[in-house]
Amino acid sequence: MKKRLIAEVLRGGQKDELVTIRGWARTKRELKEFAFLEANDGSSMANLQVVLHTDLPDYASVLKQLNTGASVEVSGVLVDSPAKGQRIELKASAVKVYGEADPESYPLQKKRHSFEFLRTIGHLRSRTNTLGAVFRVRNACAQAIHKFFYERGFIWVHTPIITASDCEGAGEMFAVTSLDLKNLPRTESQEIDYSQDFFGKKAFLTVSGQLEAEVMAMAFSNVYTFGPTFRAENSNTSRHLAEFWMVEPEMAFCDLKGDMDLAEAFLKYVFGFVLETCPEDIEFFNKRIDNTVLATADNIINNQFERVTYTEAIALLEKAKKKFEYPVEWGLDLQSEHERYLAEELFKKPAIVTDYPVGIKAFYMRLNDDAKTVAAMDVVAPKIGEIIGGSQREERLDILERRIQEAGLNLEDYWWYLDLRRYGTVEHAGFGLGFERLVQFMTGMANIRDVIPFPRTPLSIDF
Ligand code: ATP
Ligand code: MN
Repeated sequence: MKKRLIAEVLRGGQKDELVTIRGWARTKRELKEFAFLEANDGSSMANLQVVLHTDLPDYASVLKQLNTGASVEVSGVLVDSPAKGQRIELKASAVKVYGEADPESYPLQKKRHSFEFLRTIGHLRSRTNTLGAVFRVRNACAQAIHKFFYERGFIWVHTPIITASDCEGAGEMFAVTSLDLKNLPRTESQEIDYSQDFFGKKAFLTVSGQLEAEVMAMAFSNVYTFGPTFRAENSNTSRHLAEFWMVEPEMAFCDLKGDMDLAEAFLKYVFGFVLETCPEDIEFFNKRIDNTVLATADNIINNQFERVTYTEAIALLEKAKKKFEYPVEWGLDLQSEHERYLAEELFKKPAIVTDYPVGIKAFYMRLNDDAKTVAAMDVVAPKIGEIIGGSQREERLDILERRIQEAGLNLEDYWWYLDLRRYGTVEHAGFGLGFERLVQFMTGMANIRDVIPFPRTPLSIDF
């Protein structure tokens, strides 16, 4: 008998076909003549209904072992299902229980559990409907991202996780050391002597792969990174993790307009791919988690994004009849409430805000001719706020050196980054997208801890 995934059986299984499925028992229902088992192997939201007749060998003992959470293999024949909402079911001819799950202690009994509770059983929560759907959608997003870039000739480059440079100059980095913390080597002035550390200098977990992606773009033209990044920020919010995944494309011979075009095409593609490949899961989110999920996706896919400058956006916000919590003033950063007002209430679709004041953006963003703004762009979306942040990079050596110094950073630390401007420099641009934020928007999940299998947040690293 052919071993099949439950998703394949539900989609394409034919009456009279002999199949074997493996998975975990979700529920069991005993009637007089037979029993029903709902089996799930993670390949789809829907379970496969298995019918066990009393004439099955070892019927009584098998049924006793088949509790919620038990792992099981069933062989049998597919038959038309008389039950509502399912096309076929599996009539068992042989059932093997691999591992039982004691109903007294198995925590996932058939009832609704809060996401907070599920986080305390991080090793089991993926067996629930919601987390199952989240991680299938997360996978579809990741596949879509690679497919999008592959189809456009981008090279996927792997930037390092351990690094000596702080991309943003913003701090909040985890230190990486092999020094004996109980016996730290000291210099004469009693500082910690990092020259004796593993790399001979201070090292950190990366906060962004951008600078290294720029290196690779200067050889391969169009590249992207997609990997874990780390921030030791002590912000306990529903949108921050200490370890999260980031997507960062970088393009040579590209200006801010090309960057915006890519960001817009990228979001439309990823949302489209997920709607196409995970319709049941998205349907579930729309029904059970957030009833704007489908409308948000539709909005992103079908509308041309609005494009405004930061200066225009400030003027629009000043004219708004709305009371904001944070001040609106040229020179101050836009807060999430401002971004959402623009996208949600004013434009009613995603918008790209460009040309931010130089004072609130990173040193590597290209200085505009007005010397007051930089060629930055943020994509803001209804319900979501900022989803992508990007910029054209400063490709002029003298200006970049000045900006690094103004940011209080050491020129020597950036010698190789500056070399890119000495040898074959060219206009280039890119953006960063927080992968978990994308999955949140796609699914409507309120807390970022519930869209990554093993969330890392302050004081939490159990699984
Ligand atoms: P925020 O203002 O939300 O803290 P940021 O300005 O620090 O974001 P960037 O440094 O521009 O963010 O990082 C690029 C993207 O990475 C952001 O647009 C966001 O989607 C995502 N991101 C940033 N910090 C986190 C975090 N701690 N956890 C998850 N995603 C994050
Ligand atoms: Mn931040």
